[in-house]
Amino acid sequence: MSKSNIIVQKYGGSSVANPKRIAAVAKRIVGYHKKGHDVVVVVSALGDTTDELLKLVRKITRTPSEREIDMLISTGEQISVALLAMAIHRLGYEAKSFTGAQVGIITDSTHTKARIIKINTSTIKRQLAQKNIAIVAGFQGVDVSKEITTLGRGGSDLTAVALAKALKARSCEIYTDVEGIYTADPRIEPKARKLDNVCYDEMLEMASLGAQVLQTRCVELAKRFNIPIVVKSSFTNKGGTMISPEVKAMEKVVVRAVTLNKNEVKITMRDLPDRPGVAAKIFQEIADQGINVDMIVQNISRTGYTDLSFTAAKDNLSKTLRVGRAVSAEIGGGDVIADKDVARLSIVGVGMKSHSGIAAGMFEALADNKINIEMISTSEISISCVIKKKYAVRAVRALHKKFKLDKV
Ligand code: ADP
Ligand code: ASP
Ligand code: MG
Repeated sequence: MSKSNIIVQKYGGSSVANPKRIAAVAKRIVGYHKKGHDVVVVVSALGDTTDELLKLVRKITRTPSEREIDMLISTGEQISVALLAMAIHRLGYEAKSFTGAQVGIITDSTHTKARIIKINTSTIKRQLAQKNIAIVAGFQGVDVSKEITTLGRGGSDLTAVALAKALKARSCEIYTDVEGIYTADPRIEPKARKLDNVCYDEMLEMASLGAQVLQTRCVELAKRFNIPIVVKSSFTNKGGTMISPEVKAMEKVVVRAVTLNKNEVKITMRDLPDRPGVAAKIFQEIADQGINVDMIVQNISRTGYTDLSFTAAKDNLSKTLRVGRAVSAEIGGGDVIADKDVARLSIVGVGMKSHSGIAAGMFEALADNKINIEMISTSEISISCVIKKKYAVRAVRALHKKFKLDKV
């Protein structure tokens, strides 16, 4: 990245959850402005606003239009940008708030998980030229037909990285309610340790395996364009975690973090005919509905029929069941059932590429804690197990201890 004077700062929902916090964030932003930076701020909706709006949707209908969902949930960020601008005005500084559409964040038309196609930076640049602080609503954009879109949950992170890229910012800082990226969710494992550096691949794996602290797509984008991200606390002035291409010191450490994902369900399709083409048909039909599946396990058939299990996002449960049942009926299979009482537990580390015995260590730690493993999957730099949800916290702590993640 060339060295412009622009810094992009993103403040998450908990950082602006109430008027006092908004005032504190405003003060922090003004501090950077006073140092001579051109500050572009991305803000999420206040506290749990997005969840609350989605709860309202469920009270109205179980089959909402995705266009209307976007129309609704994009309002959360519109509230926070305006309030933050006012808080900055109160301190005597110039700031202007903008929606995604106003700053030209153009996306495709995939409502609720739209992809950014391009960003017209002229509006923001004009503000910066006038020494105004630009405050942009995170998580939202607009398609070419002026339809409002959103970028998937946690999407303000993506807005920040995309703006940093488009504006050739000198840094992209993600402010949140923890001091950086930890060896485990600090809310689950009090002994979790903050990491000073994490490489893109590890962060990508951690994010996709449940560490909600950064949105997976934002890390993908940062990796693709080599944009360093710093994750910091909005409550303290500590150094945070730098996410960048590679970190040498990490090579010695094999397992870097434990993650937990409670947002997946296990789907089992029973008594499927065991013949070529069955899995292809099932997963094609599921993919056609835009549903991602993971951790696929098929049992050995003894009678010419077999059971097939896979995990999918909880949000897609009813859609997945609908498609699964239709395909099963069509091919002469049996019941399709869902188990919502599961959690996916993973260990992540780039050092795992070149070490053996890590899986055995993970399974042993779970066995010692009498935790049964229902499914297993591995990648080059991670191992995941599906376990019962009720053991999730105990399992995270057991693995954290097993791999000595509390020690430097
Ligand atoms: P924001 O509102 O700032 O976007 P999020 O709630 O999306 O914040 O993400 C921050 C939360 O992510 C933390 O409060 C923490 O509980 C959780 N988290 C999960 N895994 C990790 C991890 N490995 N390191 C840091 N935070 C984590
Ligand atoms: N408010 C949105 C959400 O809750 C976007 C974000 O917080 O990043 O998902
Ligand atoms: Mg977030």
